[in-house]
Amino acid sequence: MSAVKPNQADGLRQRNVATNGNGNGWTPTDEGRKTDQILDSHVEYEFGGPWGVVAIMTGFPALMYYLWACLVFYDGQLVHPTSMDDIQPFLWRIWEHIRVDASPNAYAWKVYTGLIVYQLFLAWVVPGYIQEGLPVPSLGYKTLVYKCNAYGSIYITMITAAVLHTTGIFRMTEIIDNFGHLMTVAMIYGFGVSFGMYFLTVATGNQIRMSGNLIYDVFMGACLNPRIGPVDLKMWLEVRIPWVIVFFMSVSGACKQYEQYGYVTPNMSFMCLATWLYLNACGKGEELIPQTWDMFHEKWGFLVIFWNFAGVPFSYIYSVVYMASHDPSKYRFSTLGYAALYTTLLTAYYIWDTAMSQKSRFKLQTQGITSYRRTFPQLPWGTIENPSYVQTAHGNRLLTDGWWRYSRKPNYVADWHMSLTWGLVIGTASPIPYFYSVFFIVVLIHRCGRDFERCAMKYGKDWERYCSIVKYKFIPGVY
Ligand code: NDP
Repeated sequence: MSAVKPNQADGLRQRNVATNGNGNGWTPTDEGRKTDQILDSHVEYEFGGPWGVVAIMTGFPALMYYLWACLVFYDGQLVHPTSMDDIQPFLWRIWEHIRVDASPNAYAWKVYTGLIVYQLFLAWVVPGYIQEGLPVPSLGYKTLVYKCNAYGSIYITMITAAVLHTTGIFRMTEIIDNFGHLMTVAMIYGFGVSFGMYFLTVATGNQIRMSGNLIYDVFMGACLNPRIGPVDLKMWLEVRIPWVIVFFMSVSGACKQYEQYGYVTPNMSFMCLATWLYLNACGKGEELIPQTWDMFHEKWGFLVIFWNFAGVPFSYIYSVVYMASHDPSKYRFSTLGYAALYTTLLTAYYIWDTAMSQKSRFKLQTQGITSYRRTFPQLPWGTIENPSYVQTAHGNRLLTDGWWRYSRKPNYVADWHMSLTWGLVIGTASPIPYFYSVFFIVVLIHRCGRDFERCAMKYGKDWERYCSIVKYKFIPGVY
């Protein structure tokens, strides 16, 4: 376990083992404790309240089916009814595609359930780096311990897949051919686990920050830190299912092209690289995930569960689905075009990786942790020595150095550019693969608003001071 030392420079937190009894030795200031209490109670509805969340819970799966049908059956074009009289036949045609090609068939149940069971098994047994999380206010400022073995688990999964494919036991090419069937099973898991967790949490009295409205609480979640044995389910699901699927879907598309044409297009190789970078990043920096908003604040509800089981894996890689079923001549670029595409991805990745690393390591330094895990690739400028920061009355510090001196969300900007390249990879052949970047910008702006609101409440005048130093939200000089 990493050493957690008292941070003597931080006069606003006190070493207080005797009185808090939580074993981690930290308590926040009285002011910090009060704001944490407010942040841990339901104050107002988000996402448009109960009606808004019902719209999201029904509208999203419908949109995912529609986009999939357009991509696979209508040459990637956004089809619509041609007249009022055509509405019913149009809906019937879409429904028929879903009924036939996206039914929850036995293959999809076996593959998806197999993935879940295997990933849970690996998370349980593979040795990992032990990381202490941030103090959790709702647990009396106890810190939870996270076994970070995603990195090892991901590469064991890749070796397993390679063996299964080459021995012919399980052909990689089949996954992309069963995209629709797998998507439906993923959605069923998304709904089932969301409702199941809600009822289980309420039955065991572990709920926090509840509104009292059933559907809204299912959507936002009831529990903050669900665990099975050593496995933190929220962190497990965030990494081990969605990003593993997007990577293997891309590999599946590449295998299919190879079988069909005898080569893999630079576009499909690009998607293999892009999805591998994201998956590897989740594994290599897993010990930093406990400090992200999803882990310390977001509960484990439909919003997170459905999105990780079904949303991410089945709406982010439409370009792969398109390329796997269309001739390469439809999305061929010049050498310069490919160079621009790959350069944009690698530059955005570099900024994203190092921005996340700078902030997370800064937070670890604040906790007194100064030795970090070093997994591949360690990029230059991932750690800032003696950074400048704003000391808050709450006790936390806000970094104003590295990428964080230019904007308050440099990580979002870089991440969004990566999402854009996942659509650009097929050029103008279809608008549907751009769904990820369009959707993602809405998510990031909304998420940023929620996050800044929370920070303004948490840090008060210190947040204003921080905003006056780091003036821009996203792009310096622009916004
Ligand atoms: P951030 O990593 O920006 O974390 C926000 C929190 O960090 C704030 O609430 C605050 O928490 C703290 N913080 C903010 N600014 C500073 C600062 N200057 N110094 C120190 N602490 C600061 O956002 P997220 O957790 O939302 O996202 C993490 C990554 O995950 C992003 O790159 C995002 O793009 C990615 N992501 C990807 C998604 C996808 O589907 N591809 C979906 C969602 C996220 P506090 O002060 O309370 O500690």
